[in-house]
Amino acid sequence: MSDSLKINLAILPEEGLRLTFSEGSVWFQGCFGGGALPEFSLVSADVDCLITRSGDTIYVRGDLKAQMRQECSRCLEPATFSAGGAFAYTLVPEKTETAEDLELSAQELETSYYRGDFIDLAPIICEQIILLAPMKILCTEDCKGLCPHCGVNLNTGSCTCRSKKVDDRLAVLKKFKVIN
Ligand SMILES: [Zn+2]
Ligand SMILES: [Zn+2]
Repeated sequence: MSDSLKINLAILPEEGLRLTFSEGSVWFQGCFGGGALPEFSLVSADVDCLITRSGDTIYVRGDLKAQMRQECSRCLEPATFSAGGAFAYTLVPEKTETAEDLELSAQELETSYYRGDFIDLAPIICEQIILLAPMKILCTEDCKGLCPHCGVNLNTGSCTCRSKKVDDRLAVLKKFKVIN
């Protein structure tokens, strides 16, 4: 399935190649080749992109909609969330000499390299998915999280720690009095 994301530039049509495809969690995990996986898992990624060329330079522009799944950072229950956006990549043939590359690197952050007659969209799409993932996931905007004392999920349950916490504070105050 991921091989279908390898584009043969030798047969790229003059007007460009439009590709629409969907990938899922198995494909996403495969992108990391057994290396460390991100904290979220991919539910689905829908991509619509256009690949064009101008001489040796290849342009990939598209739209990505992804559904991801990760533990809520407050209550630790699995949460599914969507993210999406436009992306644009410029790919140039990999150079053999590297002397000039260092000078160019700062302004070429959005530029990737390809070798031979093929470009692989998989790492491009994977990178975009990672860039889309928010730092902090909440199951709902007003998730109450876990009680820091007994660990009960305050969205679905309740506990009596709140009143005990006040007692703890009083205990601390009492200690201060003793020290003074
Ligand atoms: Zn939550
Ligand atoms: Zn509690």
